[in-house]
Amino acid sequence: MPHAEGKVAAPFRLRVAGQDNSYGGPGLSIRGMPPYDVIVLGSGPAGLTAAIYATRANLKTLVIAGAVAGGQLMITTDVENYPGFPKGVQGPELMELWRQQTARFGAEFVDDNVTKVDFSKPPFKVWTSDGVHEGRSIIIATGANAKYLGLPNEERLKGRGVSACAVCDGFFFKGLDVVVVGGGDTAMEDSLFLSKLCKTVTVVHRRHAFRASKIMQDRLFRTPTIKVIWDSEVIDVLGDQRVEGVRIKNVKTAQTTDLKVRGLFLAIGHDPATDVLRDQLRLEKGYIVLRPHDGFSTATSVHGVFAAGDVHDFRYRQAVTAAGFGCMAALDAEKWLQGHE
Ligand code: NAP
Repeated sequence: MPHAEGKVAAPFRLRVAGQDNSYGGPGLSIRGMPPYDVIVLGSGPAGLTAAIYATRANLKTLVIAGAVAGGQLMITTDVENYPGFPKGVQGPELMELWRQQTARFGAEFVDDNVTKVDFSKPPFKVWTSDGVHEGRSIIIATGANAKYLGLPNEERLKGRGVSACAVCDGFFFKGLDVVVVGGGDTAMEDSLFLSKLCKTVTVVHRRHAFRASKIMQDRLFRTPTIKVIWDSEVIDVLGDQRVEGVRIKNVKTAQTTDLKVRGLFLAIGHDPATDVLRDQLRLEKGYIVLRPHDGFSTATSVHGVFAAGDVHDFRYRQAVTAAGFGCMAALDAEKWLQGHE
């Protein structure tokens, strides 16, 4: 998902000026209302696109947007790879426009987190702090968050040289030296991608073996501008206004070394936001497993429940692909509902 270099925007609640599509309010009973045709969980690119398509198909749609609405783009500044914005766009601005577009077609919003779900039988039930919401179908677009090392200076320099998305931010590091942390397929893929842009790429891995597929490892080892530092961890990020280097520690000898680099790319995995979905549908390593049936390619293991974006897609993880999945999930939900009137 496009993180980009620059200042990290503070998360804030999206509110659409002049348009209040908020559903209910504190203390307002929501019992006894007919179920929504579609409840969308999440309000990033996948969720909002799903809601645009669902409402334009005349489906009564509720978006449970999350307490901090808008997804990962809300903590991103420059987004330069989203089509239609030749000069780039700020992540929060893009999500604000996206939400206005969604609200225009009548989607209702709850700016709250989902606390519990029951997908055992339709209508499906979704709880937030103000009660239970019922939907004849569900689109899950809750996303995934990149994992970070948890270092104070890493947090401070996020967006100023620290990134968890090489595809989004690599361009900002053209001709510079960078470090990639991790030993899985993402670390290999990110390093290979960065090697085409950056002067050097140093992979820092905490063990002496990668877990990545052999073919990806071979490609990495064959690339002359990529070197590997084994058995080592990044223990600090150096720099005042931007990343100037990283301090690494050999886990076997405890020796520390400072590397002069301008970028630190984390490739240590993602946490899909599926905690409340456990025991309700098929997950693998926390990600929703798609179970296509009857031509519904975004179907999950529960008929009538669909998934879109990073919550199932650990491969592409881009705003534009998430939006595409959101569109597909809404079209699938619409067709599925037609067969279950
Ligand atoms: P991953 O396979 O879980 O690898 C994460 C890597 O980060 C591991 O090498 C791990 O080290 C390291 N790591 C984790 N926490 C760390 C920490 N706190 N400090 C330092 N290092 C840490 O994650 P992934 O690479 O993102 O891949 C996720 C899934 O997507 C995998 O199933 C992968 O095969 C798949 N994928 C596939 C492709 C492809 O097919 N082209 C591309 C990308 C991803 P250890 O090895 O020591 O545990």
